[in-house]
Amino acid sequence: MTGWIVEVIEIPQGRGASMRRVLLAAPRGFCAGVDRAVIAVERALEQYGSPVYVRRQIVHNEYVVRTLEKKGAVFVEETEEVPEGSIVVFSAHGVAPSMHDEARVSRLVTIDATCPLVAKVHKEAIRFADEGFDILLVGHEGHEEVIGTMGEAPERIHLVDGAEDVADVEVRDESKVVWLSQTTLSVDETMATVGELKKRFPLLVSPPSDDICYATQNRQVVVKQIAPETDLLIVVGSRNSSNSVRLVEVGLEYGTKAAYLVDFADEIDEVWLEGACTVGVTSGASVPEILVEGVLEWLAKRGYSDVQTVRTVTETQQFALPRELLQAADSTPPSAPAEVEG
Ligand code: SF4
Repeated sequence: MTGWIVEVIEIPQGRGASMRRVLLAAPRGFCAGVDRAVIAVERALEQYGSPVYVRRQIVHNEYVVRTLEKKGAVFVEETEEVPEGSIVVFSAHGVAPSMHDEARVSRLVTIDATCPLVAKVHKEAIRFADEGFDILLVGHEGHEEVIGTMGEAPERIHLVDGAEDVADVEVRDESKVVWLSQTTLSVDETMATVGELKKRFPLLVSPPSDDICYATQNRQVVVKQIAPETDLLIVVGSRNSSNSVRLVEVGLEYGTKAAYLVDFADEIDEVWLEGACTVGVTSGASVPEILVEGVLEWLAKRGYSDVQTVRTVTETQQFALPRELLQAADSTPPSAPAEVEG
């Protein structure tokens, strides 16, 4: 399939420049954190055999979860469902420290696939809480990453789920307030919320570096580039994938006429193509390329076989596997904790 993709840097201008074409966003799809988490489960299965338990979806993508299930992974909602002494992988979204405590009580062998960029936000939260700050965490209520981060210092972290929450925030000392954020938010929306926070708390401290991760930002940047040129934007991703949902929102905000989120090509409605000359295609950070290929094939069968890749940056980020897997040089499972705590 890649043989008929033409890589371009400049976007051909003007809707209808070609009768029917696809602008394929790059970068798209798997980020380094997702890649690492998926490989971690596969490697755990290779090293220790099935079953390897995984708490929650390892990444927010139905196809990835089903594929790992076929290889022997068993997905559970909570660690209490995992038999004592078993191996459990924590997902890329991160967990609260209480989850590690629960795992120790059940003598579980844990492999922590938390993305290092999520772990960075956890560390920032711990450090600022230790320094006596109130932490305003910009993020979406109920998202697993937010729950995990808030668990690091629940008494110090206040969730700010959009600019409309700003008026209700209460802190102990307005001179010791810092903001952090979920890694997969819309950059523009987050900065608008932070702008409101700064009006309320003029001494608000910013994080030392961006919390919204490189992958989320890069996927939004290229969508901003192609959106004005597209009549329709198809984002491949699951509905519970925060960064995928944000791509739909960013596309609409930057000028595509319509945008839809689909897990699979067969969810595309032919009606969406009516009057569409240029279709944009991208995918969230938890989406394997095979699902994008399915969408391109679906479009090609309907006359959209002119595919032009629009690349804004080449990603080279890679993360080492979780240390528990690197330490296990032989096929012996890592030993369960010797002492039960809690
Ligand atoms: Fe890590 Fe960003 Fe990927 Fe989330 S989207 S797993 S934070 S690199």
